Amino acid sequence: MEALDGNAIAGRLVEVFGIEMTTATGVCAGCGARRQVAELMVYVRAPGTVARCPTCEAVVMVLAKIRGINCVDLRGLKLLEAAESPETGLF
Ligand SMILES: [Zn+2]
Repeated sequence: MEALDGNAIAGRLVEVFGIEMTTATGVCAGCGARRQVAELMVYVRAPGTVARCPTCEAVVMVLAKIRGINCVDLRGLKLLEAAESPETGLF
């Protein structure tokens, strides 16, 4: 399956976090690589979407929509940092 980049999940992440997250920085729990969300390798398939670390290919994010509710598993990330958003004031 061909990998997309993190921009493929930009809309889903806005639904979940309420802000633009592709420029957020994530730290892989597996190898410690620090990458922007836009750099992740994304595999879109039903029922879930998987984002992998481009360095070690560990799964860092799993997104699924279950009965209309967005579920996000971030257990593959040690840290996820988003810049302060001037629009929402979040983070
Ligand atoms: Zn990694």
